[in-house]
Amino acid sequence: MNGSLQEPALRLDLESVPLEVLWNAPIGIALVDRGLQLVRFNRALAGLHGPRARLYPGIRLADVLPPGEATQDILWRMEQVLATGQPFSRIELEWGRVSCHPLHEGTRVVGLCLYLEEVPEPGLAREALQVSEERLRMSLASASIGTWDFNPATGEFLCDARALELFGAPPGFRMDCDTFHSIIHPEDRERTQQVIQRTVSPESGGSYDIEYRVIGIQNGVERWLSAQGRAWFDEHGGLVRFSGTVVDITQRKRTEASARFLSEASRLLAERLDRAEEILERVARLSASSICTYCIIGVTRPDGRLPRVAGAHREPSQEHFVREALRFVPRAPGTSPLLEGVHTGRSALIREFTQDVRQRYAVSPEHLALMNTLDAHSVMTVPMRAGGKVHGMMILAACAHQRRFDEEDLALAEELAHRVGMALENLRLYEEARQAVGLRDEFLSVASHELKTPLTSLKLQHALIGKSLTPECRASVGTRLPKAVSQVERLTSLVDSLLDVSRIGAGRLGLEPVEMELTQLLREVMERLSEVFAQAGCGVDFPDTPTVHGYWDPSRLDQVLVNLLSNAAKYGAGKPIHVRVKVVDGRALLSVEDEGIGIAPGDVPRLFSRFGRAVSERHYGGLGLGLFISKQIVEAMDGRIRVESQPARGSTFTVELPLRARG
Ligand code: ADP
Repeated sequence: MNGSLQEPALRLDLESVPLEVLWNAPIGIALVDRGLQLVRFNRALAGLHGPRARLYPGIRLADVLPPGEATQDILWRMEQVLATGQPFSRIELEWGRVSCHPLHEGTRVVGLCLYLEEVPEPGLAREALQVSEERLRMSLASASIGTWDFNPATGEFLCDARALELFGAPPGFRMDCDTFHSIIHPEDRERTQQVIQRTVSPESGGSYDIEYRVIGIQNGVERWLSAQGRAWFDEHGGLVRFSGTVVDITQRKRTEASARFLSEASRLLAERLDRAEEILERVARLSASSICTYCIIGVTRPDGRLPRVAGAHREPSQEHFVREALRFVPRAPGTSPLLEGVHTGRSALIREFTQDVRQRYAVSPEHLALMNTLDAHSVMTVPMRAGGKVHGMMILAACAHQRRFDEEDLALAEELAHRVGMALENLRLYEEARQAVGLRDEFLSVASHELKTPLTSLKLQHALIGKSLTPECRASVGTRLPKAVSQVERLTSLVDSLLDVSRIGAGRLGLEPVEMELTQLLREVMERLSEVFAQAGCGVDFPDTPTVHGYWDPSRLDQVLVNLLSNAAKYGAGKPIHVRVKVVDGRALLSVEDEGIGIAPGDVPRLFSRFGRAVSERHYGGLGLGLFISKQIVEAMDGRIRVESQPARGSTFTVELPLRARG
């Protein structure tokens, strides 16, 4: 002892714990004597549902517990505890669980302590189970979920009514594994079987989630199903149960597929396909690979005939039958109901393409034989309309496993036909425009050549007149002759522009590059245009610049300089013009800057195209060809031309040329 004061340790004296504490426990507790009569019991025991009599000390357990074998058994077990002193615990009875411990006095067992836990009243439990099963059934039904359960031990394959319906089987049908495999769509069969095989091996985790198509057992209807399943294994990894659910996702799949198909078709139609045949071939192939088994397309001429046809079949091995069938597509109106849509503009859904219908559609016995070989069971004929015209017909057929067409398929086919019709209409307009442009270019070329001859002779006449004038006559003619000469020159330059345009169109803008010096050429051109600058009231600012030698076509470059400088005077009248030349990185840079009307940013891109103008013809004359020709010339010399401009502030045109252009 170290002498310090210590409080005595608190010890739980079991003797002093009032028995009532145990009596408040939430499970039933009872003390019985060796005669199995109740000695004491707690409140929870009195509240149990199991006992069949009111409890009081002294009552025999046999009179308390419900009669029956289970009670006999439990009483016998209690006798055993009294005899051996070995307790038992949690024996299940219908109404509860019982545990039993011996009470000793010395070595003798003088009684028993019983613990009784109540489980829900059996009737109530069954009812609760039924209610929850019913709820589950109702929610499965409202979600249209089918359930199935496969017992490998017995081979029993139980399907509820909805699952049978989804598998296209009649009510009460006895499903088996072979039938189930046979109804999976051939294209999905291998994939689905692989998933199932994987699922029933214990290392897989035992669950799967897969989408596949089935072909109805009874009705042949194709359906998309989403299936989820779970396999259960015993401790040796043996399959003991395999069950799951199936949901119909056909509509979702159809909507997805339709959207995918239309976007694919639009993408295809948006590609620049110059030949209608190519469009038709590709559309037929796309259709046959997704919305039908085979597809035939015919394009009409203004007289209603179908001179051009295309076709495709999903199965390459059947493709030649479709090609063969193309020969029989009636080409003249009024020869077959197949062409009715060309006249009426209406589509037709032939849900059942029966023998009778085939006979009506066939144009000859050979045609009928071919139809029977192709053996479509459902057909749609859809006119391709656009721009108020019918451009042709599409025939879409479903064979073999493909389901019969319905209104939704018809709507999709109509949408496709409309888009194809639009593409054909665009192609027609494009061809028309191309022809018109061709005619225009031809006209320009002929007209400019035709104009060139009288102009040349007019120039000659002017020269002769000038030479033969006596001094008196010259005085009386005054400035008229020089004015006439200058107008003819202007006319000649306009006609030259037109000639250049037709040369460019025909790819005949020849260049003749030579070694030359740019600043010298620039000075000459400015000199020639001095009259133009004076009339426009423009001073030209061109500082002393070192010479720039290069390998270019001088007369074509002259043309570019004239164009840029005369434009600067025309659109920048009354303001100075700044001309600069420099060499940067082996390239000559020539800029012509004015302080004139400038160009709106939106107009810039088209100024360099044929006839591209950004000013009204009332205020400014011109053909809109100068910049187009200049660009062609500069690019032919591997150079670039660009403009920077601000409206009302002025424009700067810059020509960039490699010092040595391609010859
Ligand atoms: P044209 O001048 O004969 O119409 P161009 O091809 O030379 O033909 O020019 C095309 C158009 O570019 C002109 O109509 C005009 O709208 C615009 N443009 C050309 N140069 C200038 C300039 N320096 N300032 C403003 N606009 C110009």
